[in-house]
Amino acid sequence: MHGRRSIVASAAAVGEMRERVHLTIDFGSLEDYMKKGGLSLTSIKCPEYSAPLRLPKVGTEVVCQHCSNTVYAQDVLEKIKELIG
Ligand SMILES: [Zn+2]
Repeated sequence: MHGRRSIVASAAAVGEMRERVHLTIDFGSLEDYMKKGGLSLTSIKCPEYSAPLRLPKVGTEVVCQHCSNTVYAQDVLEKIKELIG
């Protein structure tokens, strides 16, 4: 019984953490993360046409000047994680 209760509690904690990351991640904190991985903000490209994106220092999303596609900092972070490993 005790074991089952522990699993439920940890699953709830993980969900809470993900939500917090989603709310607070912006391009400024993304830049810090990328620098640690040896990347620069200019290496981020639009997923649609691979056009370079002009990322702002603040904000959680950017609209591509080429195709008007909205790119979210959260999604960029996922890509960076793949690149850095
Ligand atoms: Zn684009």
